[in-house]
Amino acid sequence: MIPARRIFAIPRRGTARADARPSEGTDGGAGVVQVLLVLVLLVAALACGVPTPPSPTATLPPTAPAAGELLTVLFLDVGQGDATLIRSPGGQTMLIDGGNGASDADDVILPALQAWGSDRLDVMVITHPDQDHIGGLSRVIELVPVGKVVLTGQVHTTQTYERLLIAIRDNELPAVRARGETSLDFDPALTTSILGPTDALVESDDTNNASIVVRMTYGAITFLFTGDAEETEETVILRDGADVQAQVLKVGHHGSRSSTSPDWLQAVSPEVGIISVGEDNPYGHPHPEVLDLLSQFGVRVYRTDRQGTITVVTDGTSYQVSTERDDE
Ligand SMILES: [Zn+2]
Repeated sequence: MIPARRIFAIPRRGTARADARPSEGTDGGAGVVQVLLVLVLLVAALACGVPTPPSPTATLPPTAPAAGELLTVLFLDVGQGDATLIRSPGGQTMLIDGGNGASDADDVILPALQAWGSDRLDVMVITHPDQDHIGGLSRVIELVPVGKVVLTGQVHTTQTYERLLIAIRDNELPAVRARGETSLDFDPALTTSILGPTDALVESDDTNNASIVVRMTYGAITFLFTGDAEETEETVILRDGADVQAQVLKVGHHGSRSSTSPDWLQAVSPEVGIISVGEDNPYGHPHPEVLDLLSQFGVRVYRTDRQGTITVVTDGTSYQVSTERDDE
């Protein structure tokens, strides 16, 4: 296995390529050009990366959990956005997405990490470049060491995404390109796979349907983290024959009707569905059709807008769900 840091290095400030770094407060056309330069450099670096080999773990039985070692997953309440913090049985930490802004990092993500006694993130997964998933990530990078970043490299020209890419580069964080049907190096006690996106989805300008979809298994218990993947990406993943079954499903795209097709739900066959959503959000998430479908499939639904942060803890044999507050 090639160490992540050798896959590629994002150009550092102070090199010739650092000309792509925009000056503070720059806006308008020059800023856009600079953003594009940063993105082109990143994508070029990604394209030169050594592709992750097909998952050798896919055909292996899951590692048997050792007694007393727990996998803890926090679906953090960051309003209308996503941030999922994971502590593995071996004590490694992973953050999948980072809420809307720096305050989500300061008030929610970092306190949760500190409450575990962790002072670093081993893995940061950026499912896709939309604001409600990346807003707090630059702040996280500013305040705690990050072992590696996993991202798609999709081109997206917003100031927030530009700032994040610059933070990754300036902190010299190893970055790994995520594509479907590969394994993600995390904790050997877990089987952690990336199910999507495909190259074709990343090359489109549809950010939601180029979300990184992660499946994580500990013993007999599996989680599926879907970002904002919609029916288009769900269909591609199912078409490619990936095993998507999971007891705990992070319901796609905040419970939007554009995600969670009946075929997807049938294949995942979850017992618990987590919806990360803001109270009275302008999108009407979660949509009633999705809630009805989850109900028809007998899925127990938890919502961050009503119950705050939702915690799932498993020893690899069974799992427990707890909520920050009672349903209102
Ligand atoms: Zn979103």
